Formats: sequence, C-alpha cells, structure tokens
Amino acid sequence: MRRVRAFFGGIHPNDNKQSTNSTPIKALPAPEVLAVPLLQHAGREAKPLVAKGDEVLKGQVIAEADGKISAPVHSPVSGKVTAIEPRPGAAGRSLTCIVIENDSQENWVEREPHPDPVQLDAQTIVKRIAEAGIVGMGGGGFPTAPKLAPPKGVIIDYLLLNGCECEPYLTADHRLMVEYADEIILGAKLMAKACGARKIIIGVEDNKPDAIAALREKAGAIEVVALSTRYPQGGEKQLIQALTGREVPSQGLPYQAGCVVQNVGTAWAVAKALRDGEPLIARVVTVTGSAIGEPQNFLVPIGTAFKDLIEAAGGFSQTPGKVVAGGPMMGGAQFSLDVPVTKVTSGVLAFGMEESKTPDSQPCIKCARCVDVCPANLLPLKLEAYGMNEQWDNAREYGALDCIECGCCTYICPSKRPLLHYIRFAKAEIVARERQSS
Ligand code: SF4
Ligand code: SF4
Repeated sequence: MRRVRAFFGGIHPNDNKQSTNSTPIKALPAPEVLAVPLLQHAGREAKPLVAKGDEVLKGQVIAEADGKISAPVHSPVSGKVTAIEPRPGAAGRSLTCIVIENDSQENWVEREPHPDPVQLDAQTIVKRIAEAGIVGMGGGGFPTAPKLAPPKGVIIDYLLLNGCECEPYLTADHRLMVEYADEIILGAKLMAKACGARKIIIGVEDNKPDAIAALREKAGAIEVVALSTRYPQGGEKQLIQALTGREVPSQGLPYQAGCVVQNVGTAWAVAKALRDGEPLIARVVTVTGSAIGEPQNFLVPIGTAFKDLIEAAGGFSQTPGKVVAGGPMMGGAQFSLDVPVTKVTSGVLAFGMEESKTPDSQPCIKCARCVDVCPANLLPLKLEAYGMNEQWDNAREYGALDCIECGCCTYICPSKRPLLHYIRFAKAEIVARERQSS
C-alpha cells in the first residue's frame, strides 16, 4: 500500500457532511432572471460583448477575457439582456453583472463536441479550455489555461487532482466524484496532456470511500490516493506535500515543485468543454446548514441568486443568523441573498441565530496552539499583533504572505481571538503597499 506523507499542522473539525453526502445531485432549472458577473475569477474582469436589448443564445460568449489572467463569460440560458449593472457579490463588494431574462427556450449556440478529445494536441486543449471560460472551481478561481502552460523549460512531473473537499459541510465535489467519475478521469487526462505531466494522482480524503471506489473503478493507470481526513488537506501546498513529499518554496508556485494542481470540479468542466463542446455555465453547489429546510446539492446555472437556491432547498427552517458563501472555515458571511452563483461558489450555508454568535475574544494566553496547527509554519499570534498594530514590515518579515487563510488558528484559539481577520488585513495592506511602490 502507498505510504502517504502528511502535511504539517491542521485540525479535525466535525465535518457535518452527513445531510448531503449521499443525496444525488439535482439539476435546478434556470430562474426567470439571471445576473452573470463579469468577474468570477482571479485576474482581470471580462469585457462585455453584448448590450442591453441583445438576444443571446445558451452558451454564447457574452464577455471576453481581458488579457491572459482573465476568463470569458458565457450565457447560461437563451434570452434577452435587460441590463448591465452592479449587483451584490459574495466577497462584499458589488460586481458588474450582465442581467439576462430567460426565454426558457434552451436555444444553444453552435457547439463543437469531440468524440475522443484526448487525441487533440496540447495547444488545442489549452486553447479550448481558455475559450470555455474554465477557472479553478475549488474556490481560488485562477484561470485554468495559464496554469496548464508553465514557463518555458519547466518540466511538470505530476498533475494532482484535488478531491479532498476538506471544508466542513461541503459535499459538491464528493457527489461529483461519485456521479461523474468518467468525466473527472477524462478531464484529468486532458489536463495532464496539456501541461505534459508524466503522472496523474487524485487525492481524496478517506471520509469519502464511495468517491474513492467510483474513481478507482474508472482510473486505469491513474493513482487514486486516500488521504487522512484533516483540514486543510485540500490546500494546494498541503496536497503537494501529502501526495509527492515535495515542498513549494515560500511564496512560490506549484510548478516550482514540478506539479500542477487542479480541482475535481475543474476536471469535470474540462471534460464537458472538450467532449461535449459546453462552456462553463453551471456548477454543483451544496446548500446546507442548520437553518436550511432540505439540504441538498444542486447543479445550478451560473447567475442564479442565492435566494432561489435557498428556496429550492425548502427555504429557511428557522430564522437565519448567518448565511455563508463557500465553507464555514474560509467562506464569507453574506449581507444579501441577491448574490449570484459564480464559477467558484461551492456552497451556500445558513445557520441559526445561536450558532452564528461571534464569541467575545479574550487576551492571548500564549498557549501556542495556533502555532501548532498552522499548516504554513507561521506564528499566527505574532501576525495578529502586527496586523492589529499596523506593523506591516514586521508582518511581512514573519511571513504574512505565506498565510493560506485556512482559519485553523482562529478555530483552535481558546481565547477566541480573531487571528485570521487581522492577518488578512495585514496581507491586503502589504500587497497594496507593494503595488503602489512598484
Ligand atoms: S492560540 Fe490564541 S491564546 Fe493561544 S497563543 Fe495563539 S492567539 Fe494566543
Ligand atoms: S496563519 Fe494563516 S495559514 Fe496559519 S493557521 Fe492561520 S490562517 Fe491558516
């Protein structure tokens, strides 16, 4: 049996996945109106190609990529553009959205399917992935095509697929692996060909035995590795360490360790794009939490409002104290239910009033538990103090930019200190100051 090396630090929160991990994915019909953001990815906002009053087809490009680190946006339905205007976004700031009235006709743009896309050459695969608007669907949203084209001379040994889904509550990737193993394996092969990887490994936490079995049945020469269930097992650097024993240098990128890491959802989207000719216009979203009536996983068109998702999941079962986009560890609290689903929305969680209370924080007792769990080997208590006291140079020197924002330190702290809040603050300030001076 393959011996798996563990990563440093981490925690074991209750995974709370039982309400949705064995429920099949349900395809949700598109709503009457969708708001499709121009920025659903890391990098530059896409540039609109349509105007108010234009008729659009399902799958039509409605905004083009603006440069290499950007991604085009496609219409999830056929219908009419009724506005291009700001709408609330999941990260708190508003996003410019193309608002489309759905005509319910499902009139597709002309598609270019391929019966055996693995026969395509690497360049064509990368080009089609870029054209389909595919971005990292695990949450990062980095455009997939540039990740598959590392700098000249770099040899990629491994394509690693991340099937950990280590955030509590989320089961979208879990269900995708159980129900769409064929597509995930095909997507992995296509991406490995695109980046020249010699070996493919899929890492899945061992709390998903049915997903591991489904993938292994289709995997052929691809290795499917069961990893211990420990948060944040799915962090890019942590996954590389666990699956290959290699380390990515401080502030470095996976290709510096000979690896490309992609999410299983991204592999699914790549297969759909190259085999079926369908751009990225829908994704699987987990809707769950103590305040949700009937928790489930939906295959949902991009641009669907959170309130439509919650209604489809039986509405609120109690007065919600907090609604979160993504998982509870890294996701952000929402102030509007009009926020649309984007390519990176993995979950919509709602919790009751009692669970949503923020505990009062107490002075640090120097117990070092935050240090013990930090997977980036940082001193979170120091970074918090530097962030709080606006000592940006010290925060930088102590590695604030290496923080992966996993939230383990905040979770474990017995004094309930808002460590991650101040570390994020410090990171944002350091990056802004460095941008200004460059
Ligand atoms: S875990 Fe909390 S109390 Fe303990 S050292 Fe870190 S910040 Fe201080
Ligand atoms: S300092 Fe950053 S990387 Fe370390 S535990 Fe806290 S949030 Fe995670």
